[in-house]
Amino acid sequence: MNSAETNLTRYLELENLLNGFFAVFDYCYSKCIKSELEKSQGRPVAACCRDKYYCLYDLPHPAFERLREEREKRYGKPQDQDRQNAVSPCEYHDPFTGCRLGTHKSPICLAFFCRKAIDYLRTEFGDYTYDYLGFNYALEWVLTGDLSEPQYREFRDSIIQMVQKVTKTLPENQFAKQVS
Ligand code: SF4
Repeated sequence: MNSAETNLTRYLELENLLNGFFAVFDYCYSKCIKSELEKSQGRPVAACCRDKYYCLYDLPHPAFERLREEREKRYGKPQDQDRQNAVSPCEYHDPFTGCRLGTHKSPICLAFFCRKAIDYLRTEFGDYTYDYLGFNYALEWVLTGDLSEPQYREFRDSIIQMVQKVTKTLPENQFAKQVS
């Protein structure tokens, strides 16, 4: 595997770890989108996806092109998405459930936490360490290969520790077993 493919593989592995974290954290749909839908009496909501963040902050780097190619192979191009009831400029946004991209998100889409989500992480899980801009930059550097090997391992370990901390509250969770 060449280094660009290694970087993409690493990025997707970290995304998989973070997706496990989000599954346990369970904030975006259960605490945000659902309650916004209730408030709007079922009318579609954009929540935090109010721009085309999947490309807005992408770096002009071939690694971002590779990520986009793989995303479009799996989920289709932006212009091919269903835009019925669209409330967000982002074509990958589903007006009733949120992001359609289960994987291959851009770093900013993967890393972003709103203020309320950060507060929830602090109060419910006692985790004060999440810094979404720091995560965004680190994910960018994993993708472009600008993170050294020790820095990559340190970043990966920090994600695993964060997952373990959150999953400790749910001892039966399968993901906790996977990363322990
Ligand atoms: S790609 Fe997904 S997370 Fe990113 S802005 Fe669009 S809907 Fe939101």
